[in-house]
Amino acid sequence: MDIALHYAKKLDNQDILNRYRDEFYLLPDIMYMDGNSLGLLSKRAELSLLSILDSWKKYGIDGWTQGEHPWYYFSETLSEMCAPLVGAMKEEVMITGSTTTNLHQLVASFYRPEGKRTKILVDELNFPSDLYAISSQLLLHGYNPEEHMKFVKSRDGNTLIEEDIIESMTDDIALIVLPSVLYRSGQILNLKALTKAAHERNIIIGFDLCHSIGSIPHYVDDWNVDFAFWCNYKHLNGGPGAVGGLFVNRKHFGQKPGLAGWFGSHKEKQFDLETEMSPAPDAGAYQIGTPNILSAAPLYGSLQMFAEVGIEAIREKSLKLTDYMMYLIKEELRDFHFKIANPVDHEERGGHIYLVHEEAARICKALKEHQVIPDFRSPNGIRLAPVALYNSFEDVWNTVQILKKIMTEETYKKYENKRDVVA
Ligand SMILES: *Cc1c(COP(=O)(O)O)cnc(C)c1O
Repeated sequence: MDIALHYAKKLDNQDILNRYRDEFYLLPDIMYMDGNSLGLLSKRAELSLLSILDSWKKYGIDGWTQGEHPWYYFSETLSEMCAPLVGAMKEEVMITGSTTTNLHQLVASFYRPEGKRTKILVDELNFPSDLYAISSQLLLHGYNPEEHMKFVKSRDGNTLIEEDIIESMTDDIALIVLPSVLYRSGQILNLKALTKAAHERNIIIGFDLCHSIGSIPHYVDDWNVDFAFWCNYKHLNGGPGAVGGLFVNRKHFGQKPGLAGWFGSHKEKQFDLETEMSPAPDAGAYQIGTPNILSAAPLYGSLQMFAEVGIEAIREKSLKLTDYMMYLIKEELRDFHFKIANPVDHEERGGHIYLVHEEAARICKALKEHQVIPDFRSPNGIRLAPVALYNSFEDVWNTVQILKKIMTEETYKKYENKRDVVA
């Protein structure tokens, strides 16, 4: 590797995904490094949203069965498109709800405390919404979360150690919920090994795929994972608040959903409107009410691109981008006390770089002022996500150069070292 700009340009010339940049509305003159919080709008996502709006305009209520994407089957269509990204059969996936509501649904369905087995195992680094949901589910069961939510601790504050997790799988654990990729450090957990260990101890295990879906391949069916859930607005570019997704392993089909609603019905029977529900025979059963069609619409266009490119090619470029970014950070920012806190090994590194620095909050503010959009994570983390479909190696080069300039000229010092409302 080489620190010169021409090397970045050479990598872009060799990049087979480079042409997909034209598919997106890139922000002019901005290095967008926040695709792991909110992916950018693509032209195809815009088109599928407009097409759904058009069927509302043209057909009114008949849009449920007419138009380019009849709404009644739209969730199933999207689920089929999404299934290869999680490595599942189409029947095991449902595009519905949001990350947090899907987690509620899955805990309500799979947490079955019995005898001594009453605890839910989580980790202390997980995104807090997951912990809030699990804690409230324990309360609904009459359990005190302080005693019944068991935390796997991190030794270094950034990552988890597989043996620590497995050691925590004691015989009082009924359910395990962990992330696939940690949202701060970007560490990938070994889902296959953890699932195997959980099942050897008769524990149900599910994963939050928010930070991995659309960025790394998964094989949840092969790995025998019990359930999973995710959002579609990060690496999948489905738009702010896009409808989320869930996976339920087919071995659990036929079980009743914990939180029932009419859209979880068997599709042929739903409009019989009987007083007794006939649940769908597959993951469709975990839907609750009428799908948020407009918030699902952009996903259609977006998922087309993922189908075209394939998740392996995306992962390959993503690793090259983050390898290159780490190389430049080491070469160019040597004097400025940044700590690269994401794992370095390919098997353990997700789609973003995590830099730790005492002045992180105001460095992020300075970056924003200088055409880089990073993501600040309290108290001292800077996340930088070069995204395979729309970021270039030149974006990475520019980002590191701008960061170097901010540090050299100390422009960050004119800001307060405190976060804004949304960070
Ligand atoms: C983004 C994210 C969420 C967000 O949940 P929503 O219900 O979509 O707001 C939850 N968990 C993790 C790990 C996330 O990264």
